[in-house]
Amino acid sequence: MQVTMKFVRTKNEDPDQRDSFVVDVDPETSVFEAMSKVREEQDGSLAFRGTCNTGFCGDCTCQANGKRVVPCLVKVKDSVKEDAIEIKLIRNVAPVKDVLYDVDQFMWKKYKYFRPWLETNGTAPAVKDEDLEPVRLAMRCTVCGLCDEGCTVIDVDKEFLGPMALTKGLYRTTKDPRDQDTKQRFIEAGEKKGLWDCVHCWEASEHCPWGINPTHLIMDLRDDSIALGVKSGKGNPMAARHYNAFADSVKKSGWLNERMLASKTYGLPPYGLSLSGMMSQMPIALKAIRKGKASLRPHKSRPGARQIAKIFAKVEQSHKNKKA
Ligand code: SF4
Repeated sequence: MQVTMKFVRTKNEDPDQRDSFVVDVDPETSVFEAMSKVREEQDGSLAFRGTCNTGFCGDCTCQANGKRVVPCLVKVKDSVKEDAIEIKLIRNVAPVKDVLYDVDQFMWKKYKYFRPWLETNGTAPAVKDEDLEPVRLAMRCTVCGLCDEGCTVIDVDKEFLGPMALTKGLYRTTKDPRDQDTKQRFIEAGEKKGLWDCVHCWEASEHCPWGINPTHLIMDLRDDSIALGVKSGKGNPMAARHYNAFADSVKKSGWLNERMLASKTYGLPPYGLSLSGMMSQMPIALKAIRKGKASLRPHKSRPGARQIAKIFAKVEQSHKNKKA
């Protein structure tokens, strides 16, 4: 079939350079092959990254007709619209040229922050095969960046370390029983906008072409971090307060006291005055009251609250016993 490949060329200094090319391709062929055919046969100056054409290198990530894809994993017949495919950069990257972007800024700096190697004090004894299963899951990540591209937090805050780095950097190392520096890694993960800034929108998991489910892994990492006594960090100190306030409310009354949750999380009186924190929550509070999600009436315990308190007491005792 004949397909018009349209490239949105960034940082293009030559206004006469072509951006539309008609190629003859098998509909079963990958979009990346169609892109390569243009470069090989019609315009060698076209800049984009890509090596393996099997989804392994994770290099060719871009948008094809507005969909964020790894183009070597997508067939032409599934991408084409009105005999054309428009190729352009993903959204959250700094362009270098055409469809090339700065990978260092987008992902590598964030990945390196997590020290993606084992800290072993010089020895790394063999471990059971099954103990490495979670590590293998993270190792399947090809660093294609689609999860970061879909991430709704990176959309508004480029400083967020993002699901790729948390998966390939933090999950992979902390799940390895040979690593000797796990607690410190969790402390570092909270010092920047990292482990505690994910809003669990599940977009990262939706975007991952390998089903690695980074959002779920981030939740798992948080559990591990809490189990080691690290509930947040300088990057997002509210996370620990929110966590403690949530548990405290359910423990005391059997369900959630939204007003108390906001007060304790944002540091309102008597938990430490923060006028800006209080003001930032006012519109949400008013909306919640209007929609019947929060009430100005005094908070009451739910029926069965005592049973819930007993469950808390049991769990807390078992934690104490473990530590002893
Ligand atoms: S977790 Fe999935 S989407 Fe994210 S970089 Fe790795 S392979 Fe790509």
